[in-house]
Amino acid sequence: MTNFTVNVETARALDRDDPLAAYRGSFRIPPMKNGEPQIYLVGNSLGAVPVKAADYVTTELDRWANLGVGGHFEGELAWEPYHELLTQPMAAIVGAEPSEVVVMNSLTVNLHLLMVSFYSPTPTRHKILIEGHAFPSDHFAVESQIRQRGFDPVESLVVVEPRVGEETLRPEDIMSAIAEHGDSLALVMLPGVQYYTGQVLPMQEISALAHDVGARVGFDLAHAVGNIPLALHDWDVDFAAWCTYKYLNSGPGGVGGAFVHQRHVDDQSLSKFLGWWGTRKETRFEMATVFEPIPTVESWQLSNAPILSMAALRSSLDVITDAGGVRVLRAKSELQIAYLDYLLDAVIGERVESITPTAMPERGCQYALRITDPSANGKSIHGALEAAGVACDWRHPAVIRVAPVPLYNSFEDIHRFVTIFDEILTNAGVRPSGARG
Ligand SMILES: *Cc1c(COP(=O)(O)O)cnc(C)c1O
Repeated sequence: MTNFTVNVETARALDRDDPLAAYRGSFRIPPMKNGEPQIYLVGNSLGAVPVKAADYVTTELDRWANLGVGGHFEGELAWEPYHELLTQPMAAIVGAEPSEVVVMNSLTVNLHLLMVSFYSPTPTRHKILIEGHAFPSDHFAVESQIRQRGFDPVESLVVVEPRVGEETLRPEDIMSAIAEHGDSLALVMLPGVQYYTGQVLPMQEISALAHDVGARVGFDLAHAVGNIPLALHDWDVDFAAWCTYKYLNSGPGGVGGAFVHQRHVDDQSLSKFLGWWGTRKETRFEMATVFEPIPTVESWQLSNAPILSMAALRSSLDVITDAGGVRVLRAKSELQIAYLDYLLDAVIGERVESITPTAMPERGCQYALRITDPSANGKSIHGALEAAGVACDWRHPAVIRVAPVPLYNSFEDIHRFVTIFDEILTNAGVRPSGARG
């Protein structure tokens, strides 16, 4: 599929041939002031709401109204085991066994709970390796875990940075840092997809090397889950955590997810923070104070579950499952990426530089675009895009992030975005950096 043209007819033909095109109708795309749908390219930040989310949530409100507290145990949608309805579809999305996946809490909370179990520092092996541009919440969580165990981030935090003048991490630099700190490394905590640049890290290789040096490995999958295919079990990752309001469309503050590898789920020697939702379902309501862990990752659960949030998430996972899962979505995503690459090159040219890796295995659907003209006002260009109906985000200091999401963004969305972007750059007098003419 390399016979793209800059003509909108190409976009329309791609949409006609797109086997997933109808799924756009399963979502409500936020409107512009004139009522037309926005060109919604911020699914990397907050996914669009599934049309059926309201039904799923209303069902639970009605069950609450009709059954009251009885809703915990009555019917197919009983709230006590409600999270189990999400386990199988979520396990498919992250490439795991159902016993390895649970939907619970929120992302940063899950990172903390899992670090309680998988960061076991000793005087000789106490370091955590992260990346220099880690999402602030991840950085804070890791730093506070180090302090909590009586260590000092000055000695125990290892930060891998892109090389000077580069934006993305070189996998070989991650690998050599793991090797260099090997004996003192307790944990490698990295993103699956970096939130700013959209770079995919080689999770399997990182996991293998971390284990070779005797460290554990956990991934933050906030920007990976629902975006790229994952195989956490086969990659032998120790643990992972993610949120579901980005590519999994669960709504603001939606419930998070967690993975613990099968070889750890029933390991009673792991340190763990406990709550009543982690103890065996058969005896939970006997209210005994002897903790009998569920022999799956569910033993990490603390509290009874946020059903309304889970209902919204379930409506989205049902759409993703119906569409054929992440591999099917990714096939369309790769075509959308190739098409947007083509249009950026053909229409926008050197006025904008993408700092996202170009090789397909090293990127998801999100682009980080930087305006190269040093005299351009990037923030006002972002404002003009928003005013023209392109929902995208601005990340300090100079990057516009756009993410065509295969579930609901069309090829014509991509074409309209590039057309509007071109006009705005032209009107603003933006020139390529080091402009030759
Ligand atoms: C979105 C995101 C978060 C947000 O964390 P919450 O606990 O859900 O508020 C954290 N880390 C990364 C890498 C993210 O992309």
